[in-house]
Formats: sequence, structure tokens, C-alpha cells
Amino acid sequence: DNGEEIAVDDYTESAEVSKKLNSLIARMKVVDESRQEFVSNVSHELKTPLTSMKVLADSLNGQDNVPVELYREFMADIGEEIDRETKIINDLLSLVKMDRAAASLNVSAVNMNELIELILKRLRPIAEKQQVEVVFESFRPVAAEVDEVKISLAITNLVENGIKYNQEGGWVHVSLNADHQYCYIKVEDSGMGIPQESLDFIFERFYRVDKSHSREIGGTGLGLAITKNAITMHNGDIKVHSVLGEGTMFDVRIPLNYISPQNSAGSHKNR
Ligand code: ADP
Repeated sequence: DNGEEIAVDDYTESAEVSKKLNSLIARMKVVDESRQEFVSNVSHELKTPLTSMKVLADSLNGQDNVPVELYREFMADIGEEIDRETKIINDLLSLVKMDRAAASLNVSAVNMNELIELILKRLRPIAEKQQVEVVFESFRPVAAEVDEVKISLAITNLVENGIKYNQEGGWVHVSLNADHQYCYIKVEDSGMGIPQESLDFIFERFYRVDKSHSREIGGTGLGLAITKNAITMHNGDIKVHSVLGEGTMFDVRIPLNYISPQNSAGSHKNR
């Protein structure tokens, strides 16, 4: 009869609610744990250059007659550690800004061909230094509604990695294409590749395949986290394929028309 039915409904409903609640609590725990891990990683990463600087400064202070050459060498090392610290802080600031401004992209119609050419021009000195050839192939003119600064950061990180994790005589191939809905950017390199077991983690903050090697190369482990953030903020996605010892390819897809999360009925946000 009717009364029984209601009781059954109530029961299933409360079971449903408690299931949802449990999964929410579980998710909050994961978020909290990853926040704690993030803070501990940040502290560690910021402390490392400071520790090196302290050791360098102390060893100069502890000596009476420091030869000028040694003095210069240690000062240069201290300068490098300061650059490193600055890079970590700048990357962190970019990430924090993106976390906070998740819904507030500064969107305008951007000529993607010009944007990529500009990025590659800026990276040319690094590419020349590493003796890596960077090639751009555009299949068509592409205009996309994006936040130019954030997308520029995303692409820069990918191309810079392609150059950094490469060898002399290597290449980075950047391509741009579009259909009626999406803009496609591929960044492919002839570099060292990424081990399969690392592929799930490379977009995590501070993750580096080889800590000491990446440190030598000048990485912070934040670049790909920034890239992924910037792309997902645009409702786009990024995929990676890699073969160890052969190279890596990042596949980026971004909608040509930006639809803001608050206004997903179809109207476009322009500012
Ligand atoms: P990093 O500042 O260390 O370069 P990223 O977040 O940009 O940090 O990348 C994370 C890690 O993924 C790098 O430390 C490196 O080990 C690996 N990686 C990223 N891009 C490439 C690439 N194109 N080829 C090989 N390894 C890469």
C-alpha cells in the first residue's frame, strides 16, 4: 500500500544522501591532503636554494683571505640560486592567480598564428643555445577567443620543455590547425621522452621525472601544471604521448569560442 511505498522511498533517499555525503567527505579529504602536500612541497622547494646560498655565503664568511676568483665563483653560484628562487616564486604566483581567477578569463579574439610566431621568436635564443631547431607549421589562419596571456604561458611552457629536454641537433615541431569548433596545437619534440609510469603525474605540481636532472636543466616542476590549468580554464584539454629515448608529443585542443562557466547558455564572454 501507499504508506509502505513512502517508507521505501524515504529509505532509498536517505541511503542516497548518505552515500553522496560520504563521497563528498572522501573528496574533501583528498583535497585537504593534496593541499597539505602542496604546502610541504612549496616549503621544500623554496628552502633548497636558500640552503645552498647559506652554505655558499658561510664558506666565504668563514675564510680570512678569500681569493678574488673564488669569491666571484661563489657569488655567481649565489646569483644562480636567486634566479632559481625567483623562477619558483613566479611560477607559484601564476598558479595561485589562476586558482583564484578560475572564472575570470580576460578573453579576446586572438590570432593564434601570430601568437605562436611571437612565442617562438621569444624562445629562439634558448633554442639556439641548446642547438635545437624549432619549426612552426600552420595549416590555416586561426582566430580563437582566449585569454592571450594564459594561453601564451601554456604554449611557451610546452615549447620550452621540448627544447630543454632535448639534445644538441634535436628539433621541436609546433603545428596549428582548426576545424569549425576547435583549435589544435601540437608540440612534438625529438627529446629524451617520458617514462610511461610518469605520464599520469607530469601535470601535477612539482612533479619531475628526474629531480636532479630537471634541477640541472632549471625546472621547477610547475610548468606543466600551469599549462594544464590554463587550458582547462578555457574548457580545452591536453594529452601527452611519449616514447622514452625518442620524443614527446603534447596535443592541445581549445574551443574557438569561449563559453564562460556562469553563462553556459551560449553567449560569449568578452571581458
Ligand atoms: P619542469 O619545470 O621541471 O620542466 P614541468 O612541469 O614543465 O616542470 O614538467 C614536469 C616534468 O615532466 C619535467 O621535470 C620533465 O621531467 C618532464 N617533461 C616535461 N616535458 C617534457 C618533454 N618535452 N620531454 C621530456 N620530459 C618532459
